[in-house]
Amino acid sequence: MSAADPAREVLAVKYGHRVTTRAEMYLNFHIYGEPDADLDIDYYFWVIRDSGGVILVDTGFAPESGARRRRQSRTTPAEALPGLGIDPDDVTAIVITHGHWDHIGNVRQFPRAQLVLTEAEYAFWTSPLAEREHFAAHREPDEIALLARARMEDRVTLFTGRCGLAPGIELTEVGGHTPGQLIASVTTRDGGTVVLASDALHFYEEVERDRPFAILADLPAMYRAYDTLAQLATQPGTRLVAGHDPLVRTRFTGYGTAGRTGAASEVEVTDLTSPRTW
Ligand SMILES: [Zn+2]
Repeated sequence: MSAADPAREVLAVKYGHRVTTRAEMYLNFHIYGEPDADLDIDYYFWVIRDSGGVILVDTGFAPESGARRRRQSRTTPAEALPGLGIDPDDVTAIVITHGHWDHIGNVRQFPRAQLVLTEAEYAFWTSPLAEREHFAAHREPDEIALLARARMEDRVTLFTGRCGLAPGIELTEVGGHTPGQLIASVTTRDGGTVVLASDALHFYEEVERDRPFAILADLPAMYRAYDTLAQLATQPGTRLVAGHDPLVRTRFTGYGTAGRTGAASEVEVTDLTSPRTW
């Protein structure tokens, strides 16, 4: 990848949280012979800001589809970005890591942004297979329809394999969790690389203990994605950012708050360009 933009920041915005269980989150948890336990799950979207503009990686879930699933959201990107000094109109592109409801729910807030996702992901969610219950549970039809409309408006870039989105921002298709799940590798100002794994790695434990996540499209591909991420993590200066793990907020440095503030509604922002511990 090319050199880092010296002004580049990569931020994780935590917009939601819930308590679930290990048995619900890990595939066939019973095979590990461990007692079940509560598990905290965070919900994030990510912001890449540099001299070239602002790119969002995913958009979180829409408050109404969250409410239907009894998930509380604290903010949406359009609400939170001004708190980071970003005008939502300045978002030029949205990387869609995959088509699940908790990642594409607020794409509609950015009617002019270019959308970038894999061909396999787009093809799957617009196919009849996506109607089958185990897939349909994780998608919102109107949000998929919005992607199709954006494509007719020529706002969608589809790719297979790898896509160099901008200097130092590379997208890689890994599949597994969904048919065309992607990860984003972003070179940072210190010369390191932040790998936004999104749902190729919900929790660090998936890679660190080789435990697949419960929701998946292709188990061999999911294992290969873990191998890809583990390999990337051995590169000097490369840091993995799990997609739903509260550990992100302790492994990296806090950036402050954005959007609504105060008590339970506080939105936490983490600076992924500054690791605290690793
Ligand atoms: Zn997902």
